[in-house]
Amino acid sequence: ATPLALIRGGGKAADRGILMRSGDAFQIFPDVDHIVLDKTGTITVGEPAVSEVVAFGADEVDVLTTAASAEAFSEHPLADAILEFADEQDVEYADPDDFDSVTGKGVRATVASDDVLVGKPGWLSDEGIDLSKGSDDIERLQGHGLTVAGVVRDGDLLGLIGIGDEVKSDAAATIQRMRDAGITPVMITGDNERTADAVAEEVSIDRVMADVLPDEKREEIGRLQDEGHRVAMVGDGINDAPALTQADIGIAIGAGTDIAIESADIVLMGDRLGGVMDAYEIGNESYRKTR
Ligand code: ADP
Ligand code: MG
Repeated sequence: ATPLALIRGGGKAADRGILMRSGDAFQIFPDVDHIVLDKTGTITVGEPAVSEVVAFGADEVDVLTTAASAEAFSEHPLADAILEFADEQDVEYADPDDFDSVTGKGVRATVASDDVLVGKPGWLSDEGIDLSKGSDDIERLQGHGLTVAGVVRDGDLLGLIGIGDEVKSDAAATIQRMRDAGITPVMITGDNERTADAVAEEVSIDRVMADVLPDEKREEIGRLQDEGHRVAMVGDGINDAPALTQADIGIAIGAGTDIAIESADIVLMGDRLGGVMDAYEIGNESYRKTR
């Protein structure tokens, strides 16, 4: 690794909480024309919270208890949101008898000898679940930018949980800075298209890659590069590590996971999305004039 002091612009960057892990990231940055941003934790604050529970036939407590039991062993942020809400509502839930997490889709569990699935509607219908009684509500919740977890017990759709995550306060302004610099911002997410589009609209991002499985994020970056683009990727999760490595510049944001940080060229301390464009501008000032 290049010592920090030897990187042009490195001192100014460090002052703004931008750490360089690769010596040439600032040099490459002025040529970047696409910045791909993970949705959860990068554009949004990454603190999902339940905002609505919809029940079909059963009552809302039953929906929540069933979902909380199924998610009790999951480490996904959406599982945390469901468990936190169950606690707030003083709902008692048991540990599942059996549990499997299905990456990028949801969880499958055995709860009081019932088969329970909690996860994204697209996955549930691939599993043969009839979602027709929920389709209006699914559309409504997703249209508000909420992530929907369907709760299924023994093949029957019990209800829906709508989970929201606010966009960061500086997200829209940072996206505008990208556009002003002639860079195309792209949102990438494992979430469904309708939810992703609603969040993208809030921050004025036109290009959205939704329903992307964790191991497909890297391929999506590669596809942009194959089209001749220079691509920076911004992310915070374990999921994002291969894409951060694939990108011309990988940027880890916030507390991030260690794996994301290890895979990144630039690490932004703190949660501000604006650090991405601060880094771009420092790279531009330090290198553009000299070429
Ligand atoms: P992201 O790209 O937003 O970090 P993931 O790839 O982890 O998301 O998951 C993609 C989608 O799968 C989520 O938006 C959610 O709809 C669903 N999902 C994944 N894990 C869970 C879970 N434990 N409970 C409910 N839904 C889940
Ligand atoms: Mg993520």
